[in-house]
Amino acid sequence: MNENPFETTNTFLRRAFDAIAIDRRYEILLCTPRREVRVELAIQMDDGSLGHFIGYRVQHDDSRGPYKGGLRYHPEVNIDEVRSLASLMTWKTAVVDIPFGGAKGGIQVDPAKLSVRELERLTRRFVDQIHDFVGPLIDIPAPDVNTNPTVMGWFFDQYTRHHGYSPGVVTGKPLGLHGSLGREAATGRGCLFAIREVLVADGRELAGTRFAIQGFGNVGSWFARLAHAEGGRIVAVSDVHGGVFDGEGLDVPRLVDHVHATGSVVGFARSTPIRNDELLAVDCDVLVPAALGHVIDGKTAANVHAKYVLEAANGPCTLDGADVLDRRGITCLPDIWANAGGVTVSYFEWTQNLQQMRWTEERVNAELERHIVAAHVAIRSAMARYKCSMRTAAFALAVERVKAATDLRGIG
Ligand code: NAD
Repeated sequence: MNENPFETTNTFLRRAFDAIAIDRRYEILLCTPRREVRVELAIQMDDGSLGHFIGYRVQHDDSRGPYKGGLRYHPEVNIDEVRSLASLMTWKTAVVDIPFGGAKGGIQVDPAKLSVRELERLTRRFVDQIHDFVGPLIDIPAPDVNTNPTVMGWFFDQYTRHHGYSPGVVTGKPLGLHGSLGREAATGRGCLFAIREVLVADGRELAGTRFAIQGFGNVGSWFARLAHAEGGRIVAVSDVHGGVFDGEGLDVPRLVDHVHATGSVVGFARSTPIRNDELLAVDCDVLVPAALGHVIDGKTAANVHAKYVLEAANGPCTLDGADVLDRRGITCLPDIWANAGGVTVSYFEWTQNLQQMRWTEERVNAELERHIVAAHVAIRSAMARYKCSMRTAAFALAVERVKAATDLRGIG
């Protein structure tokens, strides 16, 4: 039976509640989303037929600032997954200490089956249906799986038609339309800073470290490029179509060119084909799930050959998967810290939009590094305080920060 992703997140959360011995009256408050919006999206398809889709926006907590979180277009989007992802955003923004709460949205659609014009109509219809619930000081969406700067540009434009010029309503926008330098690579770059800190703490370094990466979209491909540039060996990568392997390390710049030309990593020269399930068990130092959730369950976790799992994707481990990794002594860098680079630079983009100015890429990257490194120090200190895993420590740190804001604001 498939595990409910929202229950998984709440179980991780309850472990943090236990670690910090939080007063039980906070539990229901911190587990339950504040608002859930479900909308029907009817659009005219290019052939004149009616397209019918369901969209969601779940707003989990805004104690520390406006709701913040991505927008996913995928056929398997469902309310439990969106709830789970919204909750993860609350804890993620708290771990890296940026002034946002947590939200997530999605449309149940296979975007590969829609034309660009249909996708634009669908996005604009979604904005028409939810514009009263979002805004630069209310809830700020961003890209996630199968959404990108172009989609964010449509979102900004449609929102502006309803409410006037509002570049801060959405982040991850194109550079020519109020986007931030450094945003596109930010999640991958944040992942790199996170694993670098953990390797250094263990007396190791990035150079020579062997990585296997599942998913070669925004996060996976940027992580691969940046890790390769630091001397890391990318021994395997995959996407929805399949994967490629080279024990000596793939030539990542050439692989990126191949993906631009063909749309997939499959068929890359000087590599051996590998299946997605094989990639998870490949001999490497760091396994990087950078695609969808719940790919590492108890069974796959038992076969992981890596010493570290870097959660570039959101919720890549089931409860069982996470526990098996823990028992086997495999260090798991939890998503709410490891992939927080994207939302951190989204915060910088939002700040630039509100101030009507542009930061240099050097400033963006340096500030990003500062947030990821500071979070690592705080997580280590929570691990020592509560004698727990890195995941429970990250959740505990986040819960402490959200609880503090909740207390300061007062409950009703
Ligand atoms: P994306 O759409 O750019 O890329 C997704 C990649 O995963 C593609 O290469 C796709 O082919 C691959 N994929 C899809 N299904 C797969 C499967 N069954 N097996 C193997 N590969 C598969 O998405 P993204 O923005 O790179 O997001 C990837 C993950 O990172 C998601 O879990 C997302 O929530 C998380 N994340 C993204 C950001 C961001 O800034 N984009 C920030 C934080 C976390």
